[in-house]
Amino acid sequence: MQPRRSHERPQRSAVGVATVALAVPWLDDAITELKASVPIAEVAPALAWLLTHSHCANLDTPAGCNWLVDAAEADTFCIACRLNRTIPNLDDDDNKRYWSLVEIAKRRLVAQLLSLDLPVASKDADPERGLAFDFLRKDGDKPVMTGHANGVITVNVEEADDVVREKSRNAMHEPYRTLVGHLRHEVGHYYWDRLVADSRWLAPFRELFGDERADYAAALKRNYDEGPPADWVDRHISAYAASHPWEDWAETWAHYLHIVDGLDTALGFGLSAIDLDTTVERFAREDLYAPDDSQAGGFVFFLNAWFELAYVLNELSRSMGQPDFYPFVVSRTVASKLHFVHLVIRDARGGAS
Ligand SMILES: [Zn+2]
Ligand SMILES: [Zn+2]
Repeated sequence: MQPRRSHERPQRSAVGVATVALAVPWLDDAITELKASVPIAEVAPALAWLLTHSHCANLDTPAGCNWLVDAAEADTFCIACRLNRTIPNLDDDDNKRYWSLVEIAKRRLVAQLLSLDLPVASKDADPERGLAFDFLRKDGDKPVMTGHANGVITVNVEEADDVVREKSRNAMHEPYRTLVGHLRHEVGHYYWDRLVADSRWLAPFRELFGDERADYAAALKRNYDEGPPADWVDRHISAYAASHPWEDWAETWAHYLHIVDGLDTALGFGLSAIDLDTTVERFAREDLYAPDDSQAGGFVFFLNAWFELAYVLNELSRSMGQPDFYPFVVSRTVASKLHFVHLVIRDARGGAS
């Protein structure tokens, strides 16, 4: 299956505004009518904003992208779709299905990165430091390895196939394997390059996660041949995280994004952990990377709220005979690493919590 280049796009220098919008026909009609009859200056600012935006050009493709693009911009793709460098060959029906699912996960990722004020720019806009995705499917016997290198994230789109992904999850003895998990992990490598390497965070990173200059290929081979150390759960969020400091970072980063998104969603529905009748062991300030940080108390609250909620959701999953919703154990060392990731992100967004 030959991957094909997605689109030729003009060089860009600015990151546009994108948001989620409902793609419903009556709304399109209403907007068209309003555009014709009401001066933009006289309508409410939110509606004016809507009037100055168009649907992403990927709306009517298998990507089904429902994001918006500033109509003044030359690019017809939204900020998430602009990151695509290669998409699979859409002459193949499976590829259409896979790509659709991959894009849903990618929009969830990009929406979260934007909400965290993390830098999100395509390689077109910023060839040196930008981000790009190659969504590939294996060609003959040559496998596609999901991974990251120099701002390019390669994803094996067959991970969108439930059977393929579940087989891999079993073979790798993983409790959790999802598309959004892959994307959050790989983008963690990207942000390590941008936010930790060559920054004031590098020395403390090495103290907490280990020295990333350790032979990467040898570390992965050792992990594959011998498995993780028996006590990995005391220091890492996953067995794979024990293979190398870079993988530890990427796994911890992904986990931080899982928790932030999960808690954000819960709070968005008014679901709070405060009144839950649970016996979850709570974390304390001294478990954090920087217990004396002025906002450490808020982070402890954040962690504890999540674990209480996850405890209940696990019980709910068991009630339905499903695997645990949250199949992880977080040690005090991992809590400290999660706080480290939080501080790096806070630093990147200019100190706001
Ligand atoms: Zn789009
Ligand atoms: Zn990795």
